[in-house]
Amino acid sequence: MKLSVKENRTEAIAAACAALDGGEVVGIPTETVYGLAADATNEQAVQRIFSVKRRPSFNPLICHCSDIEMAERLAHFEPVSRALAEACWPGPLTLVLPMRADAGLPSITTAGLETVAIRLPSGFSCDLIKAFGKPLAAPSANISGKVSATSADHVVADLGAAVGLVLDDGPTPIGVESTILKIDGGEVRLLRSGGLTVERIAATTGIEVLTKIQSGKIVAPGMMESHYAPNAVVRLNAVDAKVGEVVLTFGATPHRYELAVAILSLSASGNLEEAARNLYAMLKGADEIAPNGIAVAPIPEIGMGVAINDRLRRAAAPRP
Ligand code: AMP
Ligand code: MG
Repeated sequence: MKLSVKENRTEAIAAACAALDGGEVVGIPTETVYGLAADATNEQAVQRIFSVKRRPSFNPLICHCSDIEMAERLAHFEPVSRALAEACWPGPLTLVLPMRADAGLPSITTAGLETVAIRLPSGFSCDLIKAFGKPLAAPSANISGKVSATSADHVVADLGAAVGLVLDDGPTPIGVESTILKIDGGEVRLLRSGGLTVERIAATTGIEVLTKIQSGKIVAPGMMESHYAPNAVVRLNAVDAKVGEVVLTFGATPHRYELAVAILSLSASGNLEEAARNLYAMLKGADEIAPNGIAVAPIPEIGMGVAINDRLRRAAAPRP
């Protein structure tokens, strides 16, 4: 069942809390993408997330909290993590922190790690978690490895009857997943680029984020090479179209796309935030045309373009 948050916020929160209390999974809107939420402290409920999404069990979940006090019951905060939390939460930033021994999370939530990933979302999902009173584990509400859901209809189309309740709050305002930072001693390392740019983090906190992934070292379990993948093959930095391709353009393009079956504009004005908002819906829309492939125009590797290009590289990576 789909319930509109805009039309009846109180009923939506009550219905979601009842379902979550009963150990069910619920599709919820967040400012990044739609999440498939369950009580992070309930082992069977979290197990449902993994089975509905067909998510590998080694891929840990993000625990969403409504305030820093709830987050502090899960993890140890050092001065640098506290500064990041105070400056950037609520928002599209996830912190991977040392887990408290008394966090009360089953090992399935963190895939058996001694660290826990925490985020404070803004808007409706924050109010929902406050009403529920416990952290919600919530990965994106889509089959694992596929394109993430940025509308309630995407959730229903992808997960269908496996999810009894989906809350609809319209399209998500950011459109890509959260930025993930791991805090280790005084060191702040980028595990995944996302909705909050490292430039913005540096500007608001003065904290420098290490962005170079050390070669050969696995820093984030579950950061699969192929992910966010539509059915069609994806070709990047396309300055022309091959016969039968759908093209996703960016800005006023000087390129040659006459052979395309369709052209979708991520942002006609070359706005990277708008392109992020449109990215997943347009990858899904392109797929519906069942093209020979999806060709994507070059996207500048700055600001939000870093997260967009990360998702596009994974969408284009060889499939397992
Ligand atoms: P998703 O929920 O699919 O957007 O992805 C959450 C991602 O967070 C996972 O794929 C992991 O890479 C990362 N993550 C979650 N928990 C941890 C952790 N304890 N340590 C490192 N990475 C984590
Ligand atoms: Mg996901």
